Amino acid sequence: SYVITGATGALGRLVIEALLARTAPGEIVAVARDRAKAADLAARGVAVRIADYGRPETLRGAFAAGDRVLLISGNEAGRRLAQHSAVIDAAREAGVALLTYTSVLGGPAATFSIAEEHIATEQALLASGVPYCLLRNGWYHENYTGALAGTLKTGAVIGSADGGRVASAARRDYAEAAAEVLTGSGHEDSVYELSGDTAWTMAEYAAEVSRQTGRKIPYRDLPEERYAALMTEAGVPGPAARMVADADAAIARGELASTSGDLARLLGRPTTPLSDAIADALKEPG
Ligand code: NDP
Repeated sequence: SYVITGATGALGRLVIEALLARTAPGEIVAVARDRAKAADLAARGVAVRIADYGRPETLRGAFAAGDRVLLISGNEAGRRLAQHSAVIDAAREAGVALLTYTSVLGGPAATFSIAEEHIATEQALLASGVPYCLLRNGWYHENYTGALAGTLKTGAVIGSADGGRVASAARRDYAEAAAEVLTGSGHEDSVYELSGDTAWTMAEYAAEVSRQTGRKIPYRDLPEERYAALMTEAGVPGPAARMVADADAAIARGELASTSGDLARLLGRPTTPLSDAIADALKEPG
């Protein structure tokens, strides 16, 4: 079977969509911690297994021998290494054929705080002896376009990425690449640096938003601490705000800019342009 953890999250749902386009629902297993949240997937014929990354005993039934598994990284910063290690242990004990992991662009070369648990998870996966595939995902377009309503209200794009470039791609692009790796062959023990075909600056993003809205939306660059403080004032919890600002500082250093072409190669098409994601977000109500 093709087994997706984090199946009820944004990326997981798109991976299941991509798998449903490639294979029968009966071949697909969604691992979720909340059965009600996975009810729509079950209704489409996808098998649902209940497990929580944070409770290793629940992971025992999540995998079977020969499964091709996608471990989607969790979203609880600070707990993720222990959680991912528990998933890796369970997958090894079950004898899975492939364990694919959504890591971070650059892997060990990334120096920002969000990357730390990804790098440690990669090490745990390599040490486990399980056939692996590292999907080192770059930023999602949606990290930016998801905040577009707020950007339009503020009248400016705000960040601390300075003139750094980001080779982002649509979340759906990363999801389709993951489905390709799971259903394809020859991906064992390989590493992909997944990112968009084009690396853009925040000023270019602001210019494209301006062009599509017909408004004058500038990019306003702030020092890292000031940007974190601004997010905190807007209600973002302190640690999360600091992580976002810290990642922006890494963007300024060029750490999320690489365009290896791996993602387009796996997809067999160009990655989705940022302008398309902006247009989609502008179509959304509200
Ligand atoms: P989501 O937050 O939508 O999905 C995270 C998934 O992980 C959810 O399905 C969630 O379950 C599941 N999860 C979290 N904790 C546990 C747990 N203890 N046990 C079982 N499942 C758990 O994020 P996305 O789908 O958008 O992105 C996937 C991952 O990629 C994120 O978790 C994060 O690590 C990373 N990310 C990458 C970004 C990038 O730009 N490359 C941007 C943002 C995140 P549930 O559905 O029950 O909540």
